[in-house]
Amino acid sequence: MDYQSAFQDAVRRVKAEGRYRVFADLLRRKGDFPVARWRTEDGKVRDVTVWCSNDYLGMGQLPCVVESMKKAIDDVGSGAGGTRNISGTTHYHVELERSLADLHQKDSALLFTSGYIANEATLATLGKILPGLIMFSDELNHASMIEGVKGARCEKRIWRHNDVAHLEELLAAAPKDAPKVIAFESVYSMDGDIGPLEAVCDLADKYGALTYLDEVHAVGLYGLRGAGIAERDGLMDRIDIIEGTLGKAFGVMGGYIAADGAIVDAIRSLAPGFIFTTALPPALAAGARASVEYLKAAHHLREQHQERAASLKTQLLAAGYPVMPSDTHIVPVKVGDPVLCKRISDMLLDEHGIYVQPINYPTVPRGTERLRLTPSPLHTDAMFDQLVEALDDVWERASEQAGVARG
Ligand SMILES: *Cc1c(COP(=O)(O)O)cnc(C)c1O
Repeated sequence: MDYQSAFQDAVRRVKAEGRYRVFADLLRRKGDFPVARWRTEDGKVRDVTVWCSNDYLGMGQLPCVVESMKKAIDDVGSGAGGTRNISGTTHYHVELERSLADLHQKDSALLFTSGYIANEATLATLGKILPGLIMFSDELNHASMIEGVKGARCEKRIWRHNDVAHLEELLAAAPKDAPKVIAFESVYSMDGDIGPLEAVCDLADKYGALTYLDEVHAVGLYGLRGAGIAERDGLMDRIDIIEGTLGKAFGVMGGYIAADGAIVDAIRSLAPGFIFTTALPPALAAGARASVEYLKAAHHLREQHQERAASLKTQLLAAGYPVMPSDTHIVPVKVGDPVLCKRISDMLLDEHGIYVQPINYPTVPRGTERLRLTPSPLHTDAMFDQLVEALDDVWERASEQAGVARG
């Protein structure tokens, strides 16, 4: 076996499709978000405006978040020093879990090292706990949920995205007494559409299923205290397991579930992805808790965030750009071609200091490649104007160049 060329061929195939990923080397500047320093390949450093951060509200630089992290480091040092079971549970972890349980109005919450692990570990473990489980998974669920469903090694049914009639068909066809879990998301982060929470809850009641909701792109951002879409729509008590991240709107890192005490205790006791890994550093737990608590009382930030997103959509549409319909703070602009998408993104960065990552397959279906803009309350009108001017400058030229490159 020629291992070397196997790896090189794998990359060549990715490159041939125009979806080879190059990471931008960035340093944010605390207090200046969304401005960051970008280090070019030849070592120069330039200021750029970040338009694709999932730190949706700029919480990663908020003084109370940063200060509580520093204080925790000064208090207890850097790492947790062990798994949660083996000396890694600090009082910071305990307090953060209380804070999250309160946010979602559940008995308990359980921290994971990321939202990805929270999904993967929890869904996989449900398969162990519930013999004969059938998992009903929305076809556009995040990769971490897909891996969790696979790991559950149970029967699965994939329902067409947001199609509750299809979900009901599948539920009705399943054995009545089989345990069932319906796994879906509230905000789908690439299109910015919202799952049919209430209809899914109704079906779960009718067919005796548990509901598992990924609120990763909604926590901190929706609902009066930032618990997500389920809070906004008054449905929190009808969702059995809510999953969230501390790495996006909360601006730090980590993931969690919030649920009934018996569910959380079982996952805590049985999920390898929780048990066999070092606990989050106490400073991360401290920063995340400060952020969660701050946002419980900062509804004005959520309002500003919505205003910014709506206003950017209006401005881009008025300028003639194909903004994809979105019910949320996510502003996807359709390009429809991976080479062109990357070209536009490169030119915006090189020529205008505007950083927006191209979103290509497999993150989105082929033919729907896009720029995914996430304006925060800190993106000003002047930045909006700058963005539109930059797009006006590069869009046509990029199309011509991408056409030439494709031959
Ligand atoms: C980002 C993301 C996750 C993973 O969360 P992390 O904390 O970044 O690991 C889970 N679900 C969805 C829908 C996501 O977009």
